[in-house]
Amino acid sequence: MTSPSVRTRIAPSPTGMLHLGTARTALFCWAFARHHGGKFILRIEDTDLERSTEAAVQVILDSMSWLDLEYDEGPFRQTDRLSRYSEVIDRLIAQGLAYRCYASKEELETLREGQMARGEKPRYDGRWRPENAGGRTPPAGVRPVIRFRNPDQGEVSWNDLVKGPIVIANSELDDLVIARGDGVPTYNFAVVVDDIDMQITHVLRGDDHVNNTPRQINLYRAILGDGGLLPQFGHLPMILGPDGQKLSKRHGAVSVMQYDEDGFLPEAVFNYLARLGWSHGDHEKFSRTQLVQWFDLAHVNRAPAQYNLDKLLWLNGEYMKEATDDRLAALVTPRIAQLGGQIAGPALPAVCGLLKDRARTLNELAEHAMLFYGPHGVDPALIAQHLAGPSLAAVRAFAQRAGSVDWERAALNGLIKQLVGEFALKMPQVAVPLRVALTGRTQTPSIDAVLELFGRDATLARIEATLARCG
Ligand code: GLU
Repeated sequence: MTSPSVRTRIAPSPTGMLHLGTARTALFCWAFARHHGGKFILRIEDTDLERSTEAAVQVILDSMSWLDLEYDEGPFRQTDRLSRYSEVIDRLIAQGLAYRCYASKEELETLREGQMARGEKPRYDGRWRPENAGGRTPPAGVRPVIRFRNPDQGEVSWNDLVKGPIVIANSELDDLVIARGDGVPTYNFAVVVDDIDMQITHVLRGDDHVNNTPRQINLYRAILGDGGLLPQFGHLPMILGPDGQKLSKRHGAVSVMQYDEDGFLPEAVFNYLARLGWSHGDHEKFSRTQLVQWFDLAHVNRAPAQYNLDKLLWLNGEYMKEATDDRLAALVTPRIAQLGGQIAGPALPAVCGLLKDRARTLNELAEHAMLFYGPHGVDPALIAQHLAGPSLAAVRAFAQRAGSVDWERAALNGLIKQLVGEFALKMPQVAVPLRVALTGRTQTPSIDAVLELFGRDATLARIEATLARCG
């Protein structure tokens, strides 16, 4: 028999943002499928009707598309599959593998309290199993839940692709509720029906689901019967914050789209997520193609991954340097507007080209670009400090001669050097006052480059305006 080709899935619940941990799982599922020439599927697990929202579905789609995690099938939605779940439930009931349980909340609470008082582990006692219900009439007006009749004997075991062999005794598991009173299936049931129908071969997910897996394996066996082929399971260790606690909002952004807002490039976040709990030698920066080529589960760490913002900022800075000036300009435009900047005069792509090496995020780049697009204001204290004596004379001379110099870096640099010589000053004694007069700042990138970008007219207008305020 040929082995079925690899099929993985990500199955987020649309109850809020797409968490970094889910994005990391999606990325591993995507990379694993791509590495094996298989398929990657997106399924929206929206059976929790109270908590699921359309907005959250959209956030999932946006986040997947932002990270360019393209899926081959889906998005499937569990709410479109309710009749399929009912069909499987009816069959299990008919086969005696599931049954209606009419126990009320109060009854179950009393059962639980009794078990606790006796020092036993609380568990459902099987009172509505067909063999125990023995002709009892169901109470009137109660909508039963459906429970799966878990095997009593034996154990469930699987060889986890990340954690290694795991064994759980069936005596540890009680009869799971697979559909609520309103007929809506529970997660553990719907996930199994879906993974069977979608022919998933590798279930990779967060290790918060390890405890669900033995229950799900029993459900697979019941639904598929003897000889049914189960997927393989791999549970990914969680992501911890720098303080060793589970990653959460207090560690900063945990939603994928927040990274977009904070000025990260998707390829940097993608690369960073790939390194969260997986490694290939000591490679930190690599392309999607390399990830696909290298990805394997053998190098998924068993220990939790640690989130490190500095490393992400570093990676982002590296990807910013590689990004084209036009792309950066497009990405930074709305951010400059948000800061109140007016994009006019110096061409934004050229500004990005000049500034991108110093910015670790698009937001930082936008802040730096305000040098060109922010209002021209010069603090009187800076005027007093920098525009006096021979420095002021040199700036005046610059303004006079600027009309005839070639407006490009080398010639502008030549003119500044000439003034340094003529006025017997040091370079900073001309360059800093020029910066102040032009931009109101004492520090900018290379002054000749800044002058070139402002252009002759804007430069002269700004410098004259400042000089008019000098004594
Ligand atoms: N909806 C589940 C979650 O978001 C999916 C878990 C699974 O992959 O089976 O945690």
